[in-house]
Amino acid sequence: MYDFNYHKPQTVKDALSLFKEADDGIYLAGGHTLIPAMKVRLRAPTDVIDLSGVDGLIGIREESGALVIGALTTHDTVATSEVVARAIPALNSLAASIGDAQVRNRGTIGGSVANNDPAADYPAGVLALGATIKTDRREISASEFFTAMFETALEEDELIQSISFPIVESAAYIKFPNPASRYATVGVFISRHGGQVSVAITGAAATVFRCPEMEQALSDNFAEVALDSIQLNADDMNSDMHASAEYRAHLCVVMAKRAVASMS
Ligand SMILES: Cc1cc2nc3c(=O)[nH]c(=O)nc-3n(C[C@H](O)[C@H](O)[C@H](O)COP(=O)(O)OP(=O)(O)OC[C@H]3O[C@@H](n4cnc5c(N)ncnc54)[C@H](O)[C@@H]3O)c2cc1C
Repeated sequence: MYDFNYHKPQTVKDALSLFKEADDGIYLAGGHTLIPAMKVRLRAPTDVIDLSGVDGLIGIREESGALVIGALTTHDTVATSEVVARAIPALNSLAASIGDAQVRNRGTIGGSVANNDPAADYPAGVLALGATIKTDRREISASEFFTAMFETALEEDELIQSISFPIVESAAYIKFPNPASRYATVGVFISRHGGQVSVAITGAAATVFRCPEMEQALSDNFAEVALDSIQLNADDMNSDMHASAEYRAHLCVVMAKRAVASMS
């Protein structure tokens, strides 16, 4: 580690001011990505602004047909929330599938979404459910939020305050986890509402993406068999020591079928 200034503001306004005053500021949520990145000097901010004391960033509530989750809410809180279980139980199981107990107790939904790791689980739920990311200055739709690997539509000092998920008729998330980290080798989130089906896939490519072929097939016939003829192009898929691009393309269909089966 190296020297940096540590701040613990209590309001969003103070967090934003601290960021503006810093030479190279960064927000800290649970630190599960940021601290390891600082240890190996992938990140070297002059000022770390810890959001854990900021009022109003933690909590889960149902509001006007949506489930609203505060940015600093941990994965464990989402996994075990009865409010989530009543509204969108697929988000309970998504959060429960993240990492291990230590990761779930520190990692936050806002940190996960802001980081946009290509293998993170939340981006699939955020995109398939058509969620809205509420920041200190605006509302960003999921379809515009995830721009590239580890990149989002957030401005440098923009702070996520909450994420609002429309409550749908049914949804499911199934992933093929990396056996060590539990990150998604491939994860598929499917939501169904008013005859519309949304399918979002994480882990497979540089960033989370919707799959129009699967959406069309499942809108016509919501059954595993509807996906039988779908073959995703491996050219755009990630390939690494854990899984080849071809294997990931195959897993997308297998995970999607399992998600459909769990919703039938
Ligand atoms: C061993 C291990 C296993 C893991 N397994 C999984 C897994 O299976 N699935 C999965 O999805 N994830 C997994 N993760 C990631 C983990 O779940 C965290 O969600 C992720 O690391 C983000 O951590 P954090 O919330 O502590 O954010 P931090 O590390 O504190 O911050 C991450 C980034 O987000 C920014 N940020 C944080 N909060 C905000 C905000 N409110 N507004 C704007 N920017 C913000 C920070 O500035 C930083 O750039 C794993 C992590 C570890 C260490």
